[in-house]
Amino acid sequence: MNNIPNPAHPPWCLRGPECASSGGLHLSALVSAAPGGDEVFQIGAGLWRMDVGPTERTGVLLELSVGDDVERWPIDLAQAVKLVPLLRRLIGGPAADLPQAA
Ligand SMILES: [Zn+2]
Repeated sequence: MNNIPNPAHPPWCLRGPECASSGGLHLSALVSAAPGGDEVFQIGAGLWRMDVGPTERTGVLLELSVGDDVERWPIDLAQAVKLVPLLRRLIGGPAADLPQAA
């Protein structure tokens, strides 16, 4: 059993104060998905890794903001990986592939 935070930072870690906390949360810089930068609803994405327990937990951090209201949601890696083809299918395919309202 290993509950001691891993002192090694991933190469993308910003080395913020969260790294030294008991959970050892490493965060990357966020990349904005807002093409114009002036969208009302903005989404940013980055990486996270938490050094707790025998296996590290990793994933994608989604940040959704409207003005000063900011929500951050850490998505585990398995769901983040499945999200990529899901979004591609929803917005990249022909309109006939989109779910229909009941
Ligand atoms: Zn770190």
